[in-house]
Order: sequence, then structure tokens, then C-alpha cells
Amino acid sequence: MKSLLTLLIFTAFISYSSAQILKKPIPDKLVVLTFDDAPASQYSVVAPLLKEFGFGGTFFVCEFQPNYADSTLYMNWRQIQALDQMGFEIANHTHTHANVSKLNQADFNKQLAYIEDKCDSLGIAKPSNFAYPGYGLNAQALTYLQEKDYVFARAGGSRAYDPLSDHPYLIPSWATDADNKAEIIKAFDEAKDGEIVILTIHGVPDIEHPWVNTPSELFKEYLEFLSANDFTVISMKDLEEYIDAEAAKKIIQPDLDKKFSN
Ligand SMILES: [Zn+2]
Repeated sequence: MKSLLTLLIFTAFISYSSAQILKKPIPDKLVVLTFDDAPASQYSVVAPLLKEFGFGGTFFVCEFQPNYADSTLYMNWRQIQALDQMGFEIANHTHTHANVSKLNQADFNKQLAYIEDKCDSLGIAKPSNFAYPGYGLNAQALTYLQEKDYVFARAGGSRAYDPLSDHPYLIPSWATDADNKAEIIKAFDEAKDGEIVILTIHGVPDIEHPWVNTPSELFKEYLEFLSANDFTVISMKDLEEYIDAEAAKKIIQPDLDKKFSN
């Protein structure tokens, strides 16, 4: 009897949470594509391919040190502005690709403000989402993001995002590289039953960081797979259509014991 009551309370809590957090049901086959670090190929290869397939995407930009100014390696701000004008989301990955778990609040705010000010000066929509450089995060970082009104923050972890149990500042993702095609194709299968699959993609190709290289042919294969199998491919910002992040932050306790690196 007692266990039945517990079950009823639990079920009621789940439906209450779901009503609060979800603005509308999460459809099966919902995938979010995110692109980190602003390598040059995201402008020359990724953006035209996304346009060709009619897919959305989020570009988590930073000025990757020490070679940011080398335009053969990284996008310049005019190219980032062009991505915004093409309808893609520009989001915050800190100024210098800083490990935010090692920053005090003043330094974290400086890192965020640099990207926000750059966007402001170029007429790019104010970044509302964040990705942790190197997946470095801690409880403090979450409170700093809250004070700056960020909506979602993406980490790693190689698992699907459940909006009813994952805190909006601890959103998991898979990272693509040259050798994990089987893992990524299998991951797409997890975009069902209310869960969302998010990919973290670096350069396509990535010249400076070969361990996170995604060859352009492989990237194209992913887009063809998603298109042929009728996936909905959106940006992080588009998640707000489905999820009330502020409600989720009130209901879901951040669980920092989960895995957040890829
Ligand atoms: Zn990064």
C-alpha cells in the first residue's frame, strides 16, 4: 500500500513537472547541432551545408588562444556576423576558451561580456546560451550563468538530454571526431521518448585540433542521414520552443555527479 502511494505521488510529481517544464511535447527525432571554437571551416564548410539541408545550428564562439588571429585557422568576426545574418545562432564559449571552473565571478563575467560586447557591436543577437570550454564546470559556474540570465548551458557526457531530469545548465552532448561514426549513428537512435540528441562538433575539418576533427565527407554523411530519416535539426535557441528553462531550473536540482565530458 505504502509503495503504491509512493508510486502515485511520484507519477503525480512527474506529470506536474512535465506540465511546468514542457511548453509542448518533445517530438521523436529531435537533434540539436552545436559547433564549438569558431574554426574557419565552420564558415566555409558547415554553414553552406546546413543551409543546403535546411537545418539549424548553434555556433559557440570564442577567440581560441593563441592563434585566433590566423584566419586560415579561425573565423573572423565578420564571418561570425555572416552566420548570424544567415539565421544561425551565435552563442557564448567565453573570450579565450577559459576553463570556467577555475574562474572567480568577476573573471567569468569578463569572459562572457567580451563575446556579448563583440556581438552587440556587430548587430549580432545577444548570446543567450553557453557551452563550457573543455567541459570544465562546477556549481559556482551555474550560479554565475544564472545571474547573467543565460538560458541553457551545454556540456558533454555522451548521453541524450532529458528536459525533465537534466538541469538546463547541465545539458549533455556527444562530440564527433574522425573515428566515432558508429557511436554517433547509434546516438541518433536515442532521440525519442522525450529525449533530445545534441552533438558537439568542432572543425569540419579541424586543422589545429585533430583529435576533434570531423572530416567534411563524414559531416555530410550525418546530414544526409538526418535528412533521409526525417529528423528535425535545430539550434539550442530553438529548444525554447519546447522547454521552459526557467521553470526547469526551479524544479530540477543540478546533479554534478553525472558525467559531463566527452
Ligand atoms: Zn571549445
